Amino acid sequence: MLTQIINPEYVSKFAEWQDSCHKFVIVAHTNPDGDAIGSSLALYHYLRYLRKKVCVIMPNPFPDFFKWMPGADFIMAYNRYVHVADKIIAEADVICCLDFNRLDRIDEMGEKVRTSKAKKILIDHHLDPEEFADITISHPEQSSTCELMYRFLCDLGYYYRMNTTVATCIYTGMMTDTGGFTFNSNNPEIFFIVSMLLRKRVDKDLVYRKVNYNFSASRLLLQGQVLTGMEVLPEYHTAILTLTKDQQREYQYSKGDSEGFVNMPLQIKDVIFTCFLREDTEKEMVKVSLRSIGEFPCHIVAAEFNGGGHKNASGGELPGMNAEMASEKFKQVLEKYKEQLEECFNQHPK
Ligand code: 5GP
Ligand code: MN
Repeated sequence: MLTQIINPEYVSKFAEWQDSCHKFVIVAHTNPDGDAIGSSLALYHYLRYLRKKVCVIMPNPFPDFFKWMPGADFIMAYNRYVHVADKIIAEADVICCLDFNRLDRIDEMGEKVRTSKAKKILIDHHLDPEEFADITISHPEQSSTCELMYRFLCDLGYYYRMNTTVATCIYTGMMTDTGGFTFNSNNPEIFFIVSMLLRKRVDKDLVYRKVNYNFSASRLLLQGQVLTGMEVLPEYHTAILTLTKDQQREYQYSKGDSEGFVNMPLQIKDVIFTCFLREDTEKEMVKVSLRSIGEFPCHIVAAEFNGGGHKNASGGELPGMNAEMASEKFKQVLEKYKEQLEECFNQHPK
């Protein structure tokens, strides 16, 4: 059985909205990942089952390897249809904000959501949620927003009616946000939920292949290039990867191709902290991704790069820099954390 973690008052309040409202909008974070897309589509299919008018809007397009997800074709990229999307957001009865904690995580859309007269609900597992919604369901201890979505839909009495489509969306986000159940996934209830999703005939082996064995040859070659440029800093238990604009051009980089690169150096014995620096092709800035193993808080380091996130997975941005400058900046910042890295490594050697 599952522990009741969502406040039942919030569930009842949403159930009232379900009865009284018709136009629902679902929004998730910029550069949507499996959890953002999975939780959005699960809720989308649920609300469609209730015969609601539903629109899923994400700030920008998502990677090709999520296009197979049931309902993915209905997702609107805000930056491609700004005027249409603004109207839909302004006229919504309810806006459901999934898998992000602050409105600035959805770029220009954030202010449109804030000023919309719609009722708002936030369902998320990032630390420190901004108080902008009428209902805030924030559980950072949860593996994924999809795990939270499963619990929410069950609390709404939907499990019996849940079909393979919804179960597959939920499973995909749970799988991707835990690296295929290799981190943040020691809570036994996760596997209870997985077993309940398998009862809905999710083909979990197929989901794994669709997400992980679905790359272009150039994507794999790009991975080789990035690994060749890896810098390991043994005295900090840290490794740095970079990806320049030139490399992106040479290997026909498309959005999402570098998903997961940041995790690769964690395979090195004694490395507990990794940094991946990607030059952005549209804005003059470097996107920073950080990952750690154990107690080392990468969201604290990310705060030094205008970012945030979770203890073991976070990110930020370095405006006006190229990858080389960003790498130097990162190493300067790293110096401050040397002792803490050593302590964390000694507490939790691999
Ligand atoms: P990724 O490295 O996959 O881009 O992001 C990992 C996690 O870091 C995200 O789930 C999100 O919580 C956080 N994150 C990434 N980029 C940013 C950012 O620019 N700002 C903030 N606040 N968090 C970020
Ligand atoms: Mn997530």
